[in-house]
Amino acid sequence: MPKDPKIPFNRPYIAGRELEYISRAVNENRKISGDGPFTAKCQAWLEQTLGVKKALLTHSCTGALEMSALLCDIRPGDEVIMPSFTFVSTANAFVLRGGVPVFVDIREDTLNLDERLLSGAVTAKTRAIVPVHYAGTPCDMDVIMDIARKKGLKVIEDAAQAHLSTHRGRHLGSIGDLGCLSFHETKNVISGEGGALLINDAEMAERAEIIWEKGTNRKRFFRGEVDKYTWVDIGSSFLPGEIVAAFLYAQLEMAETIIAARRRLFDRYMAGLAGLAGPAGPTQKGVLRLPEIGKDGTYNGHIMYIVTRSLAERTQLIEHLAQRGIKAVFHYVPLHSSPMGEKCGRVHGNMAVTDAVSDRLLRLPLYYEMSDDDMDRVIAAVAGFYGQR
Ligand SMILES: *Cc1c(COP(=O)(O)O)cnc(C)c1O
Repeated sequence: MPKDPKIPFNRPYIAGRELEYISRAVNENRKISGDGPFTAKCQAWLEQTLGVKKALLTHSCTGALEMSALLCDIRPGDEVIMPSFTFVSTANAFVLRGGVPVFVDIREDTLNLDERLLSGAVTAKTRAIVPVHYAGTPCDMDVIMDIARKKGLKVIEDAAQAHLSTHRGRHLGSIGDLGCLSFHETKNVISGEGGALLINDAEMAERAEIIWEKGTNRKRFFRGEVDKYTWVDIGSSFLPGEIVAAFLYAQLEMAETIIAARRRLFDRYMAGLAGLAGPAGPTQKGVLRLPEIGKDGTYNGHIMYIVTRSLAERTQLIEHLAQRGIKAVFHYVPLHSSPMGEKCGRVHGNMAVTDAVSDRLLRLPLYYEMSDDDMDRVIAAVAGFYGQR
């Protein structure tokens, strides 16, 4: 074995029973299309654990966001307020319906949509707000829900990264009208590709099932509520097959353990890098900024990021770490300045924080099986970089 093995950015964690459950789906249940026993188990787990009225597994968080746009009846010209510092699916889901993403800036502390800018961004055409819980850190949901209720807007939480984080005792994704989770390989709890739509608005629950099943009332037929099933609404194929659901169930059973381990690793990073964080003083160098989780919630340890002082410094640090076998990566290129964002979106106010952060943010390796030794190597390499200048 080489003395300094490479430290990847991410390494998907296999909980242990995935293949056993897949084998059960294939050999015992003989049900591998969607909406079978493992899908039911996963959905029940999500409903009970997260406290939502209804959960539907989807093939991705992207799919869950697209279902949300359909459920909210987004039509051409309708405006949807969202951060620009997010993944393309947050915007694409609404653009597919002819909606116009209205980008607002993010807060400097949590890097989440700045709720103080929301009221000013609302127009007669606004239909919905999409808060994105960046890195699994909660948005200020109380303020967002309050503005939405007053203005008659729907709230769709993009909780892709936020599975099992909470805000004031409630799970992220369970607070808005709709919530979207991702089980993509890069997230905390995974099924390769995968996601879930969480439906908290009871009035949307039945229509969600119809949209999920290609616009048919097939679910009602299987429950014996109608004597034949037929085409009743628009819809598409949003459900994953049972093989994916079986894999996911093995992960959900271990979810609390996975989150606890990641949280421990995250806390260890925070302690190890505290000396480099601002403000500068006798024990602190003040050269970089660390995540701020806020006191109103619990955190799922999804991303360990640092914010450097400049784009040039970040580029040098990535190179410095790469030379030591450590893979660190930046994150979003803001949507508002992307070719598609410029074409179909609108910017509200200025994007000062979004632009500054996207140039300077760097994500460090963090995965379930990361050893303390490897983390110490990363911390030492970051400290070494700043010690040298
Ligand atoms: C990962 C991610 C998505 C997309 O998730 P998929 O399951 O890959 O479709 C959407 N939004 C955010 C904020 C994400 O991090």
